[in-house]
Amino acid sequence: MMASIDHKFPKVDKEKCTGCGTCVSVCPQNVFELKDGKSHVARPEDCVECMSCVENCPVGAIKLVEPR
Ligand code: SF4
Ligand code: SF4
Repeated sequence: MMASIDHKFPKVDKEKCTGCGTCVSVCPQNVFELKDGKSHVARPEDCVECMSCVENCPVGAIKLVEPR
């Protein structure tokens, strides 16, 4: 799945993530889901690189990474 993505997508630092749900709320593309109290990047292929998640995560746990 990941190999087919041709744009940046978010990566969550699970050590930093508090599971606050802000990224789930602010993402216009519904990329995230909360799973076991942490943010899970469920649909990386839908990311449009708007940066809202990166800018709004209160603990700086999200960055956009290059596709592999
Ligand atoms: S906004 Fe940050 S801390 Fe909150 S759930 Fe998302 S990644 Fe975790
Ligand atoms: S950069 Fe924008 S579209 Fe991509 S995951 Fe973050 S909030 Fe969603």
